[in-house]
Amino acid sequence: MIQTVRGVRDIPPEESGRWIFLEECARRIFAQYGYRELRTPLFERVELFSRAVGETSDIVEKEMYVFEDRGGDALCLRPEGTASAVRSFIENSRHRTLPWRVYYLGAMFRYERPQKGRYRQFHQIGCELFGPEGPLADAEMMALVLRLLREIGIQGAVTLEINSLGCPVCRGPYRERLTAHLESLRERLCGNCQRRLTRNPLRVLDCKEEDAALLQDLPRMRDHLCGGCEAHFQGLVGHLDRLGLPYRFNPLMVRGLDYYHRTAFEAVAEGLGAQNAVAAGGRYDGLVAEMGGVSTPAVGFAMGMERLLMLMDEARVAAARADVYLVAAGDGVVEAYGLRLAETLREAGLSVEMHLSGGSMKSQMKHAGRSLAPVAVIIGQQEAQEQRVAIKWMETGEQQTLPVERLVEAVRAGAGRAGQSVNVES
Ligand code: ATP
Ligand code: MG
Repeated sequence: MIQTVRGVRDIPPEESGRWIFLEECARRIFAQYGYRELRTPLFERVELFSRAVGETSDIVEKEMYVFEDRGGDALCLRPEGTASAVRSFIENSRHRTLPWRVYYLGAMFRYERPQKGRYRQFHQIGCELFGPEGPLADAEMMALVLRLLREIGIQGAVTLEINSLGCPVCRGPYRERLTAHLESLRERLCGNCQRRLTRNPLRVLDCKEEDAALLQDLPRMRDHLCGGCEAHFQGLVGHLDRLGLPYRFNPLMVRGLDYYHRTAFEAVAEGLGAQNAVAAGGRYDGLVAEMGGVSTPAVGFAMGMERLLMLMDEARVAAARADVYLVAAGDGVVEAYGLRLAETLREAGLSVEMHLSGGSMKSQMKHAGRSLAPVAVIIGQQEAQEQRVAIKWMETGEQQTLPVERLVEAVRAGAGRAGQSVNVES
């Protein structure tokens, strides 16, 4: 028997509805903010990532799926989405028509140790915004992230953390101070960090191995920001406050990637253990120029879909499979009546799952409950004779009987939630 590769899984039909629900929420919200989809190839040249993501990053050092094709080109499966967006931006001279707002959605590949919330093929949703330089853009992007989290029912489980990583002006001197400080503590650091000390000392700040007291005493970027970076950070915080968006300043958050400038943010969930980041992003003003393009500020983020879905499971948010579950219990006349009603509802744009396997009213209602549709349309012998229908709102148990002409209107009026999530109590 041939099995799936380690760290890689099927998404079976029982689960794919939830994926589609998440994807559709994301697409809808991204569109509200003016983003359009950019679809990039699943594989690219290795050097795209070694340059964009950075030689010292975990991704490039040890996580990429690298291969040589039959023509001898060094290629790899994409481990993340930003580098491809930047490549596409430069290749198509998008700097001429700023701003450029794009989103992507799809599989990424990293050779990591598989565990809960960590896979070798996983899926990300992300946005990139090229052009605007000020904190307004950062704030709008965080508003977008929080709106998406709210839309899928998990905002309460997630905290937005923000920090500033400075810019080339202030980060260099800060890095030197930090390195000097860390050198004095060298023997107290974990093996990994001792190695990082010269190559990527900022990574020590978010090392999970170091003890908290040691980290608390380290010099902080925030105290070493230049005037421009401090004003940017304060501008961002001001916008978030005025929008009433919840966030937490985390001075120890550093992103693993060299290209971040100023704003960095993460959305973290308590419930997910070590794999607790559901979204990560920030500003990368230097990257386009670094990759050979016309210098253009940019800000972006990526979310891990598997982790979002895990939280949605925990919050018991389910994608409604249909707007309506149609129960038709009785003889052939009743069933034919039901079939016609289902078509009428679909004609009106509603999605309908009709019970097609017969059985008693009781057993059909059980299926209706399991389907998670917000409303059941119920017909039996009597309803069919009188050209009436019964409808039951599954959440409240409330039931009413109406003439058939009023069905569509009633379902529509009550089903403001149609196509959205329903919260199911366990
Ligand atoms: P982590 O610290 O968990 O390794 P990361 O910093 O490598 O995350 P990013 O490269 O910023 O993650 O990717 C953005 C998001 O993609 C993460 O916040 C996470 O939700 C998700 N993600 C990253 N790697 C994986 C993976 N191997 N499996 C599942 N989701 C992942
Ligand atoms: Mg990682």
